[in-house]
Amino acid sequence: MPSVGDLPKPTDAEIIRWRALESDVAAMGEGLRNGSATPDDVDGAFARLMSSDIDWKTYRNALHIPADAGEHAGAIEVILRRISDGWGRWLSVDAGWYPLIIATDALLAALDTDYAVHQVKEKFGTLRYYYRPSSEDVGHETLDAMDAITDGAERASAVTCERCGTTGFLQHSPRRWMKTLCASCADALGYVPTQPN
Ligand SMILES: [Zn+2]
Repeated sequence: MPSVGDLPKPTDAEIIRWRALESDVAAMGEGLRNGSATPDDVDGAFARLMSSDIDWKTYRNALHIPADAGEHAGAIEVILRRISDGWGRWLSVDAGWYPLIIATDALLAALDTDYAVHQVKEKFGTLRYYYRPSSEDVGHETLDAMDAITDGAERASAVTCERCGTTGFLQHSPRRWMKTLCASCADALGYVPTQPN
């Protein structure tokens, strides 16, 4: 495991303020994606964000194990601890991809035990797992193998529902936000299949 030093220990009051702001931002994101957010909603959410008294450095560097991590909490913590200070120790994906991310970490760690994570996020509907090797001495062959692992994870995410983990495919919201979802999760979120061009 890479050593990241002492992680910030937020107070209970800080965590309560973080959760309130996160739910505010999540609601704004959902409103933007499904087209229900009005300009006033967005202005209001930004105003609350700008006026919040959150210590962002503490926020970025603390561990943000997702509330829905369940049995995956320990494995996710291992991944979050690989993230360097300043990058933000959280995953920006939904729970359906947690097993895929954990499998990706295991494969990468088998090649480079102390590799570092920059970001794990969804982009254009699929997984991006950004990492860097533990040192410049890691050979080209290992680097190529690590790239193949993260490319493979991206391809696997394109057929895995980000919400529930079952087989999924690319869907879009009314505002054309892309997300890989199964039919029932798409229905629940108001997404529809994206037709190939
Ligand atoms: Zn689903």
